[in-house]
Amino acid sequence: MKIAVIGAGMLGASTAYHLALAGHQVIVFDEGHPGKATLAGAGIVCPWATKADDESWYALYAAGARYYDQLIADLTARGESQVGYRKVGALVVADDPAEFDAAAERLARRTAAAPETGGFQEISPEQARDHFPPLREDMKALFVPGGARVDARLLSAAMLRAAVAAGAELRSDLATLQLLNGRAILRDGRDQEVAVDQIVVAAGAWASRILAPLGLNHPVVPQRGQIVHLSLPGVDTSRWAVLLPMASHYLLAFDDSRVVIGATRENGTGFDYRVTAAGQHEVLSAGLHFAPGLANATILETRVGFRPAGPSITPILGRVEGIEGLVIGNGLGASGLTIGPLAGKLLASIAVGEDPGFDLTPYTPHPRMT
Ligand code: FAD
Repeated sequence: MKIAVIGAGMLGASTAYHLALAGHQVIVFDEGHPGKATLAGAGIVCPWATKADDESWYALYAAGARYYDQLIADLTARGESQVGYRKVGALVVADDPAEFDAAAERLARRTAAAPETGGFQEISPEQARDHFPPLREDMKALFVPGGARVDARLLSAAMLRAAVAAGAELRSDLATLQLLNGRAILRDGRDQEVAVDQIVVAAGAWASRILAPLGLNHPVVPQRGQIVHLSLPGVDTSRWAVLLPMASHYLLAFDDSRVVIGATRENGTGFDYRVTAAGQHEVLSAGLHFAPGLANATILETRVGFRPAGPSITPILGRVEGIEGLVIGNGLGASGLTIGPLAGKLLASIAVGEDPGFDLTPYTPHPRMT
């Protein structure tokens, strides 16, 4: 089957990877809009402590984290060594003792159903600082060994490389859609029709633009996130745990003496691709509140990304009733690096008419015609 995938963020890259490996002919279009979420995303893969409790969303979130082990093993077996994923463990901390206890209750319930977490244990402030040295000295923590972090730039590139090695074609180009006799038709940047059997739209925060000409009022909008990258020259940060305060911000580290503090969640910004004074201040204040040991770190950069935010936390994955040859995946919001690889696998199955092996009813797109 010949399939076009529009968008090569975490979701589109995974969709293309799974389709190409299954032997399908794949063409990926990616315009690389400034603010592509996958290039800015923090990379925390640790769903079990979340306060959000939407059942359908959590099912996908937890399954997404579980799928990482298989994906990384498969990519490694294909010679992809730069995948950016490591189980460094996660530290859950809280200023408020009641929040800490509530997190412990959630972790007890959820880790029991998820052996890949390795369970969890309460540890002292000293032990917590062994896992994340800049942490404030009074913070005891709940440690989850299975918590992980991923460099989404590396992982999405690895999936695309593997897809290309399996025959996929990658185009840096803007795709458009039109409706002809009830069927979605794809055009490239030169306005030439590209004949395919199926089209998968994984265009993130920009998807409503490409879907509007089909008469669809797609309900996903950009939510801006500003995220600060710091450097600690000479410090080996490669094994530092992910730090999850039960507040809205978080910290994590990567191999190259880099520590990341995330992130703003700004609604109503549209595609305003800027670092703002307030955004920078908010993120640094929150980060230094929990990790004062970072006060002397060097500021490397602030990345800006547009999370694809749907009307609810539940992602949108499936076919659009009434339009032939069209599959949509979107609305992964703040959890798309965790859900994206699995969601791409599910989209690939839907596109070729196979049973995804996962009940996708709660995620079906509900078309609102314009
Ligand atoms: P994107 O990565 O945005 O990719 C969409 C692509 O489609 C873009 O490249 C765009 O150019 C392309 N495109 C759009 N229209 C067209 C067109 N017409 N033709 C061609 N190409 C087109 N998730 C987690 O699980 N853990 C985290 O720690 C985490 N942290 C985050 C921190 C920040 C600051 C942000 C912004 C997000 C974070 N996320 C996190 C969420 C995650 O990054 C996103 O949910 C995910 O990257 C969305 O992936 P996507 O493939 O749907 O979209």
